[in-house]
Amino acid sequence: MEMCMQLRRKKVDQPNPAEQQSNNESQRWFSRLRSGMEKSRKNLVSKVSGVFSRFTPGSEEFWEEIEATLIQADVGVKATTLIVDSLKERAKEKKIGNAEDLLNLMEAELANILGEESPVFAWKEGLLNIFLVVGVNGTGKTTTLAKIGQRAQKEGKKVMFAAADTFRAAAIEQLEIWAERVGGDIIKHKRGSDPAAVVFDAIQAAKARSVDLLLVDTAGRLHTYENLMEELKKVKRVAQREAPDAEIGTILVVDATTGQNALAQAKIFNEALGVDKIILTKLDGTAKGGIVIAIAEEIGLPITLIGVGEQVEDLQDFRPKEFVEALLESNGNP
Ligand code: GDP
Repeated sequence: MEMCMQLRRKKVDQPNPAEQQSNNESQRWFSRLRSGMEKSRKNLVSKVSGVFSRFTPGSEEFWEEIEATLIQADVGVKATTLIVDSLKERAKEKKIGNAEDLLNLMEAELANILGEESPVFAWKEGLLNIFLVVGVNGTGKTTTLAKIGQRAQKEGKKVMFAAADTFRAAAIEQLEIWAERVGGDIIKHKRGSDPAAVVFDAIQAAKARSVDLLLVDTAGRLHTYENLMEELKKVKRVAQREAPDAEIGTILVVDATTGQNALAQAKIFNEALGVDKIILTKLDGTAKGGIVIAIAEEIGLPITLIGVGEQVEDLQDFRPKEFVEALLESNGNP
């Protein structure tokens, strides 16, 4: 059965040059997203299509099969139950009789769970933005932070980095390299010093130098998880105290390849610290793209950016509707 989820044409009129450029950019963006999502798409689409092709209205067995498929694709039990219950009800109500209409219903359901876009930047003229970037080691925290800095620079903003992961000497060095590459200032102390003191100094420097965005790299591992959370809470308190007028965002980076672990980390960090937004990295390296749905449903926090590769442009704004299209689009489409 042909299960095409064709991209809808956005414009019928001939676009002007500015619109044309923006269309081209948006196509490039979509094609990077699409290729980054290759594994997840194959995993989810081939399985879902297989099951959907056996759709028989009223068959309980069919719904059980769909449920199992979504759970296997890391969509999570809670989100799966919600999706299946809603699909069942709406399919009955709308008297859906074929698989393609059902797939369209599912697309709408997934987009609904993912909610609205939550852009990473919300510049306010003259206001300091501070991002406390948190997450366990190896999730891609430091590279992601650097990529955000690069983006802000491109938008003409002044960026500063704070090396508040003082637990590892390598973390400070890595951030220094990135700061140089990106062209932002860096505030650092010696290894083993108090991260809250680094943040204190960084905020004073950021104010003095009229910085737009202060990116704080934090530790992702300490002797215990409790120590880590206490340290991060202190860093946040100091930031709030020293920059009461600033826009302070706590941004959690999680690695999609870790599947349900990413979900567990999001719960822990959010409970301890209060997370504002989530960045999901390494979606290109996994077939577990369904984790995006699980995070949105179970944690209820917006995903602001996704990583679909190691290049700077592979850190993309998370656009729920396009993401669902890229995830569900069948392989044969352009
Ligand atoms: P940290 O320990 O959390 O600071 O992690 P790093 O920033 O050092 O990143 C760990 C590795 O993940 C590096 O090799 C990054 O290039 C890689 N990485 C980060 N984001 C992505 C992504 O979206 N896709 C892929 N494939 N690799 C990524």
